[in-house]
Amino acid sequence: MAKKLYLVKEGEISLKGGNRSHFEKKLRNNLKHKIRPYGSVIEKQKGRIFAYIDEECPDERIEKALSTTFGITGFARAYCVEKDIDIILSKAREILPSSTFGKKGTFKVKVVREDKKFFLNSHEVAIRLAEVVHEIFPDLTVNLDEPDYVLTCEIRSEVYLYTSSMRGAGGLPAGTAGHGMLLLSGGIDSPVAAFMMAKRGMKLDCIYYHAYPYTSELALEKVKTLASLVAPYLQGTKLYVVPFTEGQEHIRDNGYEEEATLMFRAAMMQTSTKIAKNDEATALVTGEALSQVASQTLDAMNFTDSMTDLVVLRPLVGLDKEEIVNTAKKIGTYETSILPYEDCCVVFSPKHPITKPHKEVARKHFEALNMDAIIDEAVKNTVVYEFDAMGNEITK
Ligand code: ATP
Ligand code: MG
Repeated sequence: MAKKLYLVKEGEISLKGGNRSHFEKKLRNNLKHKIRPYGSVIEKQKGRIFAYIDEECPDERIEKALSTTFGITGFARAYCVEKDIDIILSKAREILPSSTFGKKGTFKVKVVREDKKFFLNSHEVAIRLAEVVHEIFPDLTVNLDEPDYVLTCEIRSEVYLYTSSMRGAGGLPAGTAGHGMLLLSGGIDSPVAAFMMAKRGMKLDCIYYHAYPYTSELALEKVKTLASLVAPYLQGTKLYVVPFTEGQEHIRDNGYEEEATLMFRAAMMQTSTKIAKNDEATALVTGEALSQVASQTLDAMNFTDSMTDLVVLRPLVGLDKEEIVNTAKKIGTYETSILPYEDCCVVFSPKHPITKPHKEVARKHFEALNMDAIIDEAVKNTVVYEFDAMGNEITK
């Protein structure tokens, strides 16, 4: 079957010294996994991956796969030709009319000459290709600093031509930096936290605390949608849904009202730690940002951290809401996050939550709640959903 070629640029991986091949292998596997149904072949040459994908695979699907795979800084639909200047020029003539080039504006030809033996130097190749551009688009002028359009020619063992390169997500390949559990609520913040930790290479699964009927089936559907939206960045993910109605009611009926959120957060930490350990994860990730709400003060974080022996990562801790919202929009989770179904924190929130808990006092109050049996029962009744690397739910 005919294939189309995508040229993929690796990012930070190329700086990885001795570990480089491990990172590269992971990136290639992650990519293969995402485009697999379309029989992709992935070859590697100095800082570049060549992905050959079946002609019938829709461009949007390929673009989604490539733009959500961490470790890639850019990619482009490319055309491969022999190392012969006449063939290069005639290929340029063929692809330019239907490329991203417009009739008006400026352009530049960029030549990467990896093969130093090629009989023309970069400048000479650029001039010959610029003549072709002028032939087809007589009104375009050259601008080397800020061109509207770029035609790139990479001369390697073969020659690659492309006109439109797209930005990749950057970062490091998912699965190269340990395994964590993300506490995923229905809000704006936690999906962004997932994106940020996955960007540094972490494999993540998600945990959601559901307090049905206080929180509706729709709230659960919303969280499942969020998990499916972040799954491509995470290279697939599991979503553990923990039934926590009894836990919430127990805290409401037996604790101090102003500490309700704090106690719930402590219970989430303990429960999540158990789920993490069952799945060999060694970190918990939350969407907290310092001082965003009452439970996100240093004292509160100090207390909730003391409820787990795992490392607690809060990648949004120093961000403003606006910055978080911008990222949520960029990764496509914002519209779902602002749907109005309440999460269980809101339903059980006290009117005057405590902002400066004393760690030891709060610990004693939590112990007095005696939640071990409730937590064990919640872990036992947890339901797991799974999403593949393209965000589709895997039904068993
Ligand atoms: P978000 O926008 O992520 O919901 P938030 O600003 O609403 O965050 P909180 O509700 O205090 O803040 O929650 C802080 C963090 O605690 C969330 O980012 C998430 O990691 C975790 N969390 C809160 N509620 C739940 C829940 N029901 N299930 C799982 N994790 C939760
Ligand atoms: Mg929330």
